[in-house]
Amino acid sequence: VTESLASLVASRLRDIPDFPERGVVFKDFTPLLADHDALAAVVEDVVARFRGDVDVVVGIEARGFMIGAATAYALGVGFVPVRKAGKLPAATESANYALEYGHATIEIHSDAFTSGTRVLVMDDVLATGGTAAATCDLVERLGGVVAGVDVVVEIAALGGREALGARPLHALLQV
Ligand code: AMP
Repeated sequence: VTESLASLVASRLRDIPDFPERGVVFKDFTPLLADHDALAAVVEDVVARFRGDVDVVVGIEARGFMIGAATAYALGVGFVPVRKAGKLPAATESANYALEYGHATIEIHSDAFTSGTRVLVMDDVLATGGTAAATCDLVERLGGVVAGVDVVVEIAALGGREALGARPLHALLQV
């Protein structure tokens, strides 16, 4: 992470206290998305690290779609969505994972890519890592290889990096 890129990202994020519920500080990256230069700098950083090394980008609903699809286009590869349960129309694989209160289910189309495909997983924020780890499980169940997990922001104190095990994680900014 170059200092200038991390500080550019930091300057285009805003903290929204108590959203979506009390006690959570939401890391809102819509100012980054809205700024072409910042968006391009983020995408180009990911492209520089993964060009030629991945076959597809998997983005996690919903903000992972935004950054993931832009990056897939710039990498010259396709994009595959991982969605909350019940949103994908064709046959799916699904993964259930624990949240602080309760659980969540995410899904991927069973035919999204073929076995051996190298996958870059993208999202805006890594918090506990539960969502990203479940996404990696889905990718691996389809025979994919997780080449990397890239997020804009890692909330380091929540231990998401450990939840991903040996899969390589890169965050443009750690908070
Ligand atoms: P987790 O599974 O705990 O790592 O949560 C990650 C998912 O929830 C990602 O899809 C994020 O977009 C979202 N998320 C969790 N915490 C935050 C936060 N503080 N600010 C913004 N998004 C968050």
